Amino acid sequence: MKQDTHIEKSVLDMGEMASGAKLTVPVYFIKGQGKGPNVYIQANMHGAEVQGNAVIYQLLEQLKQLTLLGDITLVPYANPVGANHKNGEYTLGRFDPITGVNWNRMYHFDQESIDHYVEQVDGLSQAQIDEGFQQLLLRNVEQKLDHNQYGLTTGQRIAYQLQKMAHQADLVLDLHTGPISSKHLYCPEYAQNSAKYFDIEHTVLIPNSFDGAMDEATFCPWWTLAKSLNAKGIDYTLERESFTVELGSQELIDLDVAHQDALSILSYLQYKKVIQTTEFTPKKITRYGCMLSDYKAFYSPMGGMVDYLADFGEVLKAGQPLARILRMDNYGDGDALHYISLDHDVIPILHFASASVNQGTELYKVFSKFFQIT
Ligand SMILES: [Zn+2]
Repeated sequence: MKQDTHIEKSVLDMGEMASGAKLTVPVYFIKGQGKGPNVYIQANMHGAEVQGNAVIYQLLEQLKQLTLLGDITLVPYANPVGANHKNGEYTLGRFDPITGVNWNRMYHFDQESIDHYVEQVDGLSQAQIDEGFQQLLLRNVEQKLDHNQYGLTTGQRIAYQLQKMAHQADLVLDLHTGPISSKHLYCPEYAQNSAKYFDIEHTVLIPNSFDGAMDEATFCPWWTLAKSLNAKGIDYTLERESFTVELGSQELIDLDVAHQDALSILSYLQYKKVIQTTEFTPKKITRYGCMLSDYKAFYSPMGGMVDYLADFGEVLKAGQPLARILRMDNYGDGDALHYISLDHDVIPILHFASASVNQGTELYKVFSKFFQIT
């Protein structure tokens, strides 16, 4: 029987609280044989989105019994401020409470340095281009962390330190959840084929535009590099991939479901030849894709109490109710019940976590146009 693979644990300093208490994050590292892509996986960047920690637990339990071709770094509790940000019985932690900025919008991207790099690669092999570009991305983030005399926000310091680890990998998985949600995957358009290896029925395909998130911060530079080189007539194959894996609902740990999600990720890692095995097979399920521009938020047309009716993941026909909204202030002299529907078929993916909403609260997110991924 194979001996368990050694898992190295370290603790990363992320900053300090007012009392001097250190903000730390545990980092688990498994060394591979240097023959496959390196992987970076993090979880819980948003405070209430805890299920990724359970998936990392299940992944480690599996990985220690497997042969690794590439290195894998796993970071649970990636955001120590968000994870501990409670109010009453709820976890908040989607936004930095001081600046109001979304914790997953603070990563770094520098278009100018990419444009500059592209001017310097004539005559280099792809391996040399990759090596130099990776060093550039790392230098850019290190520059931000270490040589910034005006300092960084708490969130930037956390994000850049995570990004530094992520830039050392070829494949990046950022584990999140929706509010009340079905599983879905954010996947760059060019990597659509890889979506078939995850046991996730719904995939949002995202373009090459940076909006501050971890997945974009790690694939946009490489996609931009590939496009620029191809435009110059230089042959270049884009091999880096990053995904945001939305594992279901927030405020929920389910170790059995986490085991299933770990198998799904291992199926992808096997396909990418990170692990040396053939034991993982993606499930035979119908997978639907939707372009990011067709992934629509539906905002409540009125305030009230919501009875969410539409099931996730199934086609909701035009005219069928998404939700009904209760307005007891209108009972007796008006309409107490309002049914909400759309004029075209959609696939509901997630809905707001609370039953009471204001006019304009994001009620549902739906695939408004969708296609099968085959
Ligand atoms: Zn999230």
